[in-house]
Amino acid sequence: MMSQIDEKLEPIYREVLQRNPGEGEFHQAVREVLESIGPVLAKYPEFAEKKIIERLCEPERQIIFRVPWQDDQGCVHIHRGFRVEFNSALGPYKGGLRFHPSVYLGIIKFLGFEQIFKNALTGMPIGGAKGGSDFDPKGRSGDEIMRFCQSFMTELYRHIGEYTDVPAGDVGVGTREIGYLFGQYKRITNRYESGVLTGKGVDWGGSLVRPEATGYGAVFFLREMLKAGNDSLDGKTCVVSGSGNVAIYTMEKLHELGAKVVACSDSSGYVHDAAGIDLTLLKQIKEVERRRVSDYAQQREQARFVPRGNIWTIPCQVAMPSATQNELTGKDAATLLRNGCVAVVEGANMPTTPEGVRAFLESGIAYGPGKAANAGGVATSALEMQQNASRDAWTFEHTEARLAEIMQRIHALVQETAEQFGAPGNYVAGANIAGFIRVAKAMVALGLI
Ligand code: NAP
Repeated sequence: MMSQIDEKLEPIYREVLQRNPGEGEFHQAVREVLESIGPVLAKYPEFAEKKIIERLCEPERQIIFRVPWQDDQGCVHIHRGFRVEFNSALGPYKGGLRFHPSVYLGIIKFLGFEQIFKNALTGMPIGGAKGGSDFDPKGRSGDEIMRFCQSFMTELYRHIGEYTDVPAGDVGVGTREIGYLFGQYKRITNRYESGVLTGKGVDWGGSLVRPEATGYGAVFFLREMLKAGNDSLDGKTCVVSGSGNVAIYTMEKLHELGAKVVACSDSSGYVHDAAGIDLTLLKQIKEVERRRVSDYAQQREQARFVPRGNIWTIPCQVAMPSATQNELTGKDAATLLRNGCVAVVEGANMPTTPEGVRAFLESGIAYGPGKAANAGGVATSALEMQQNASRDAWTFEHTEARLAEIMQRIHALVQETAEQFGAPGNYVAGANIAGFIRVAKAMVALGLI
């Protein structure tokens, strides 16, 4: 059962379906926003008159390109590259690059669409975009990754720039890949244009706290949500899906703030460690040796690896999906609620299916959607851009304090907006409405473009 879309918005949604066939994830992301923003149109009739919503659903520019490269055996491979520059009303396009075999236009469009509202929520001057490729980095040598990144940038460089479009990392794209991408951009353009990419290493223009930012930010958001219900993280048992960039730093901050993470995962299964995940060991396996979570269980006697297991069956008070889209279903939501879960905060983008979202909203538990909760990553990317523009480098403490303050502000904005529009406690409505209003006002001000 779907929730209702305001009748004025129904034809817009039908047109999105018709104009973008086969792009299920994009349809899902658009529908969720349209379900929330009906009450806004009553207050701001000019948004409908000026067709702001129709314009928002149509990317400003979509770039699709061929990425040829050669593996270590000399074999030629052809992949597809994407950059969807969705909306630049608030600033240069900003959003990550994803390298994963599941990537196709519909995934990039859903991510780019969500990015518009997320970036608006940060209050910073950044528009929304996303990009990537169906390239699978798993099992590839460092040299192969470098050649792929160089080929990808050989086309992408002409579309990006400090004032135009500033990509960052996402699934499959971390500091190593950003390094190869930045190196090739610099070589082609003969410009050390630090502000063209974020997620750079600290020795060559990156910002401290950027690697930690999405995970730390999601936990700061969770802390605010719990505080609003007179609760705290202290002693909470947590489950975090994934074991990549977002998951690792989510776990680190949860431990620092007194909670205990007992399970994490990758696409092969999950590990359960009732004594609490040992992050030094996990980081060594995932970040240094680039191996699987199953290796964690082999090196930790009390830990158990469950191949292809469902991590949401592990009882917990806090669940933080931090792997991928639609990884938490309606059935998983019911299991979590039955097991006494009191908070679900999303590190990943759209990790909960519409049925799962509905179950969380109806239950009244603290449910923080990714659009708001994982905005700390892009916000810190904007802080990296600030440092690049002023040729400065801030300390870890200063940058982390800025991040914490931004997450507090986003939380307050989302909470207040939900109340103002008659949906107290509904952070999905609060995030969608607050993000939408900021972008829509800027679009009205900039005229019909
Ligand atoms: P990452 O470092 O590449 O890690 C991704 C993790 O999720 C890995 O453990 C991976 O397992 C798992 N995963 C990926 N695709 C999967 C699939 N189809 N099925 C099952 N597991 C899968 O990526 P990340 O940067 O942590 O991103 C995780 C999520 O956070 C994504 O939704 C991303 O869009 C979102 N996000 C990231 C940032 C950021 O700053 N990085 C910011 C905001 C939101 P395998 O290794 O087995 O594939």
